[in-house]
Amino acid sequence: MLLQISEPGLSPAPHQRKLAIGIDLGTTNSLVASVRSGTAETLPDASGEHILPSVVHYGTQCTLTGTDARRLAAEDPLNTIISVKRFMGRGVEDIRALGDVLPYRFTRTDGGMPFIETVQGEKSPVQVSAEILRALRGRAEETLGGDLLGAVITVPAYFDDAQRQATKDAARLAGLEVLRLLNEPTAAAVAYGLDQGGEGTIAVYDLGGGTFDISILRLRRGVFEVLATGGNTALGGDDFDQMVAGWILEQAGLDIKALDPEQYRKLLDAACAAKEALTDSDTVSINFDGWSGEITKTIFDSLVDPLIDRTIKSVKKSLRDAKLKAADINEVVMVGGSTRVPRVRERVADLIGKQPLTDIDPDRVVAIGAALQADILAGNKPADEMLLLDVIPLSLGLETMGGLMEKVIHRNTTIPVARAQEFTTFKDGQTAMAIHVLQGERELVDVNRSLARFVLRGIPPMPAGMARIRVTFQVDADGLLSVSAREESSGVAASIEIKPSYGLEESEITEMLQASYTFAKEDKEARNLLERRVEAERIIEAVQNALAIDGDILLSPEERAELAEQARHLAETTKSHDADLIAKTTEEVAKASEVFAARRMNAGIRAALSGQAVDAFEALGADKTEK
Ligand code: ADP
Ligand code: MG
Repeated sequence: MLLQISEPGLSPAPHQRKLAIGIDLGTTNSLVASVRSGTAETLPDASGEHILPSVVHYGTQCTLTGTDARRLAAEDPLNTIISVKRFMGRGVEDIRALGDVLPYRFTRTDGGMPFIETVQGEKSPVQVSAEILRALRGRAEETLGGDLLGAVITVPAYFDDAQRQATKDAARLAGLEVLRLLNEPTAAAVAYGLDQGGEGTIAVYDLGGGTFDISILRLRRGVFEVLATGGNTALGGDDFDQMVAGWILEQAGLDIKALDPEQYRKLLDAACAAKEALTDSDTVSINFDGWSGEITKTIFDSLVDPLIDRTIKSVKKSLRDAKLKAADINEVVMVGGSTRVPRVRERVADLIGKQPLTDIDPDRVVAIGAALQADILAGNKPADEMLLLDVIPLSLGLETMGGLMEKVIHRNTTIPVARAQEFTTFKDGQTAMAIHVLQGERELVDVNRSLARFVLRGIPPMPAGMARIRVTFQVDADGLLSVSAREESSGVAASIEIKPSYGLEESEITEMLQASYTFAKEDKEARNLLERRVEAERIIEAVQNALAIDGDILLSPEERAELAEQARHLAETTKSHDADLIAKTTEEVAKASEVFAARRMNAGIRAALSGQAVDAFEALGADKTEK
């Protein structure tokens, strides 16, 4: 699902172009692309290769990535990390559930993030991924000849927050500014310019090396919505290779058990080469271990048909999930190297009843879409170009006591999304609450962006902290934010609709992010001080209120004077900038008022309080209870 943001200003002159790249960080292969002289193209390495195998080898002397690393996979499997994407943002349990017989030794398996043991020590999946990203970044800098502004990195549509976060961490580690994470199917659709067209339903069929993903997207008014995702995390071109390898062994009369790891690797390489060659010819000759023979397209098709069947089943399931029929699909985009196989294209065309889009190289299409987005995000496009977003660019939240922002939906959360949080009142008898909706990354309200304000009225009078006000943030498929607040015991409710990021320029987003990093420490200290002050004011308020209501009934004049003095002293302390001192003094007053509070409880004073009404509404209490 995507929001639109129009970019300000005119297209800058070529020498002012900011360099931005798109990265397809794949399970098997990765690519980097950039817009040069108006067209998006993938960037080759020094030897002319566009595809970088997503493999990292940790050697005793040095670290290798890509093809060099892949060559060592058979020889040194423990120190050669392949398919690291599968481990990104996953815990030990998730990795065990992958079920593969992984050669790696995972350490720190006591929960949390697992590390892979290598000759260079423990490596986290994030570090391994960063190695791949660093290689692509180096390639881009060499080819483009300049400093990069940042990158759009693609992730599967089904990636959760942890997996997305891990991807971003890897980018940061590689020294890349992430302009945006973009869903892979969305990137593919963008590469075909489908976002420029009218409305429609798009299926993105992505068959890579080891994974199959199907995504059903709906495009409406330039906004993409993910209707359904499905697939198989253990099905891809590698399985095609296995089928061909099995056939070779059968033909050659060889037993798989008789092969050593190196022979086995060679067998798979021969199978893979034959498979890829069959895309363009009807028969291919194979030589393996003294045996030579020929494989025809017909044989190959019959070998892989059962595998393709499984992808077709997934597509049907996703269509059902999206409550659509095959005929409802307007376009099918083919992604992933394995969709080059003619049989795959045929089967998909049969199912959907139309020819899939295959003009753009299926293993480059995602990187190309990412590059197009990166170019827009970098500000290289004129004002009428729309920017597609499928995540929330900046956190959304609301103001709590002391001028602090409480984030309810964090930035980069994919939309649509709904999150709720509970808040409470700050004053006894508070009957209204001001809800101030904010956008931004900073701790303090003033430096974030104010989106809207509304008031929840009619809260039944209760002692401070008793009301339970549930505030729900919802960003729908059209990119509209609605915020509603409801007092749980009485059911009184209020809500407002806001357009969150409309009109917010990308430069503003970048600036706000930059500031949030620059000021992170100051913000944290400021937040701490303000929280202490709020806490202190809460206590003062409570004590003074209680004293006014029944201080002379329940307390001796001495006790009364003493408590009042302590509250006054705390009020004085609050003015200081010493958060610790304020906290300590607050603690003392809270302790001193315990006896009084207990007596009030016993006297059943709380019931009497409900008769009180406070007309003016008060700011939201900072007392948050999770979700
Ligand atoms: P991933 O997205 O998993 O990183 P890719 O999209 O790069 O993977 O796809 C890699 C797969 O595509 C490999 O299994 C490779 O053998 C296969 N492939 C590449 N070119 C061809 C071709 N011409 N014919 C058939 N399969 C191909
Ligand atoms: Mg891929």
